[in-house]
Amino acid sequence: MNRPRRTFLKKSIFAFFISIVGLALLVVEKIFEYSLAPTADKDCDFVYPIDESQVQAPTDALHHATPSFGLEQSGGFINDASCLNKTPIYGIVKVRTVADIQTALTFARENRVKVTVAGQRHSMGGQSFSKDGLVLDMRDFNQISVDKQSRVLTTQSGATWAQIQSLLDAEGLSVKAMQSINVPTVGGTLSVNAHGIAHDPGEIAPTVRRFRIMLSSGEIKAASIDENPELFRLAIGGYGLFGVILDAELDVVANEVYEWKTQYMNYTDFPDYYDRNVAGKNSIGLFYGRLSMSPSSYLTETALHTYEKRTLLGPVPAVTPVGHDWFVRLVLNFSKTGGFGRRVRWDLEKYAEPRVYPCVSRNQAMIRGEGCFVTRNHEMDDSMSYLKSRSRDTNILQEYFIPREKMAAFVDGMRAIVNDDLANLLNVTIRVVHRDTITALPYAKQDVFAFVLYFNQKLNETASIRMRKTTSDLIDLALRLNGTFYLPYQLYYSTEQLHRAYPEIDSFFAQKRSYDPIGLFTNKLYEKYGG
Ligand SMILES: Cc1cc2nc3c(=O)[nH]c(=O)nc-3n(C[C@H](O)[C@H](O)[C@H](O)COP(=O)(O)OP(=O)(O)OC[C@H]3O[C@@H](n4cnc5c(N)ncnc54)[C@H](O)[C@@H]3O)c2cc1C
Repeated sequence: MNRPRRTFLKKSIFAFFISIVGLALLVVEKIFEYSLAPTADKDCDFVYPIDESQVQAPTDALHHATPSFGLEQSGGFINDASCLNKTPIYGIVKVRTVADIQTALTFARENRVKVTVAGQRHSMGGQSFSKDGLVLDMRDFNQISVDKQSRVLTTQSGATWAQIQSLLDAEGLSVKAMQSINVPTVGGTLSVNAHGIAHDPGEIAPTVRRFRIMLSSGEIKAASIDENPELFRLAIGGYGLFGVILDAELDVVANEVYEWKTQYMNYTDFPDYYDRNVAGKNSIGLFYGRLSMSPSSYLTETALHTYEKRTLLGPVPAVTPVGHDWFVRLVLNFSKTGGFGRRVRWDLEKYAEPRVYPCVSRNQAMIRGEGCFVTRNHEMDDSMSYLKSRSRDTNILQEYFIPREKMAAFVDGMRAIVNDDLANLLNVTIRVVHRDTITALPYAKQDVFAFVLYFNQKLNETASIRMRKTTSDLIDLALRLNGTFYLPYQLYYSTEQLHRAYPEIDSFFAQKRSYDPIGLFTNKLYEKYGG
């Protein structure tokens, strides 16, 4: 080989080597970025809808009135789980006692400052704050106790489900209804009438025996189905507009052991499967479905998870922390990148997860020997911390409540909308929700399936405009099918869409004004649609 050719070959090998190293470094960097938990809250400076008044600091005039009590935060900004709602506020009071709430309300009444109650701020449309408002941060107001005999939990409203689960687990008890994550507070859960994978009862409302609420006057009232029933119906799903829920008595159940089974079927078979095998069956403790995101079976293949009651030989094991969050985060973040990532995620969940799942036992059940046995607490104990990522993006939740016989039409319509809008849909779970006969603003007007959609979007205007359109299209679809949409999320719906889904909304807002004639309690939802 002559000298120039040798040099060329050497250079080529070197360039190839450098490319391989560069690629490997890039992959390693991505693996770190996708799998590591963020070290701090995301810097969410981008606000949507863009409104200059929302990003300025609170007006000085407000600060002329200095409260006699300490503020955890004076002035400054607040945000919620959407990361798109940065809002200037008067300040935040850290509530520890009933007297703290009383004092804060007296100050707010005297100084005409609006008040909003906040739990974990996992709502996504500013339901837990308003511009220049005083925010009551309830999370340190979290005493809990349980009466094992009567299976009643008494909890202050700032307690989280995670705190409650650790108390109940030690007593052999379990939560009856909550969200699919254990991060939210009891106050936030009651105020949106949340629901999760405990298909029976579905919503939290039927599990609430009684609560106490402080009205804008400072008066404390107890409410239950029999005592102040109107207030009971209004404040559950009341978005903090009627008063501050102080504490509640909730039904709890035994920490049962279940055999976990997953079946795969076409989405069109889901309602029939549910009717035949789950509806009315006391033996099924938990139930939910998930639609495939893999391009090969996109929004058609459906995983059904059933949890059938079993008896364990020996004691029921305590919940232990799950240690592979980083891996779930890695796979989830990879699935944001496109079809290949989604296929990998679905295949891992379908084929690998059943083999490595931390069943409390695979052979200890009295009835059968080989299934995966889990406790109710184990299955409901999920903080979803793997959802938190370091990427410059945010995840947006939405929920649609669809009459069960219309499920196929909804999924077909959703597939078309998501494809047309090029929306980055990461996850769809299907839950069972029963007709709500308790609350004043029911999202379930009949027995429905709840479709929980989880989107990913970038933090910029184009992405937000697209998400707004997708949301509006999905709401129209739900309405055409006699369904509704959930109110703790982004305020992208029109007044007309709100009225069609919630014909009770005007009377709900009128009742708010009668219970709170001075208009002390507010939030962005009320200010946009009812104020
Ligand atoms: C990742 C994620 C998963 C979710 N999963 C589910 C799910 O499975 N099922 C479901 O139904 N929802 C789900 N949600 C929505 C969630 O249930 C609601 O946003 C819920 O309100 C969150 O509770 P929070 O403590 O964060 O309440 P916040 O968002 O802080 O407050 C929500 C509302 O409750 C009011 N409020 C809070 N505390 C009180 C109080 N003590 N007295 C009076 N009013 C009060 C606030 O003013 C506000 O209007 C999810 C949200 C996220 C971000």
